[in-house]
Amino acid sequence: MGEDIETNGGCYCGQLRYTVKGLPLLSAYCHCTLCQRLNAAAFIHTLHFANSAFAWTRFEGGEVRIYEVADKPWKKRHRCANCGCTVASYNAKKDEWSVWGAQLDRDNAGKRMNLEKLKPTAHTFYETRMVDIVDDLGKWDGYEGLSNRLPM
Ligand SMILES: [Zn+2]
Ligand SMILES: [Zn+2]
Repeated sequence: MGEDIETNGGCYCGQLRYTVKGLPLLSAYCHCTLCQRLNAAAFIHTLHFANSAFAWTRFEGGEVRIYEVADKPWKKRHRCANCGCTVASYNAKKDEWSVWGAQLDRDNAGKRMNLEKLKPTAHTFYETRMVDIVDDLGKWDGYEGLSNRLPM
């Protein structure tokens, strides 16, 4: 079934690329303030994969910049030295990688590959949202299933 899928993604310029295997452990729109500030976005589509499901496939020039979030030093964000995009974050506490849906490869129509298998199942950290979202997904004040579901 869908567990055999492989999905590729990377930075804008293409020098830093990765592959993720199988289905994500989590796929959600995250409205937390960390994601907002680090990505300059109202919210992001984040996907979590086990360390064993993630691999770098391209490191042009061999240089990857790593930024540790000051108050969460177990989160190491990997950034392309050329175009500056952060493409993946390693969480040493969970031994998991986060990647972002916006950076997954597109088909010729601009649609993300494997989207049906990878699409978000929830809105997380929704109380700090910058924009109201009207859809059928659950809205949570933390992680899906591990926090309070908000009545909307
Ligand atoms: Zn790049
Ligand atoms: Zn977040």
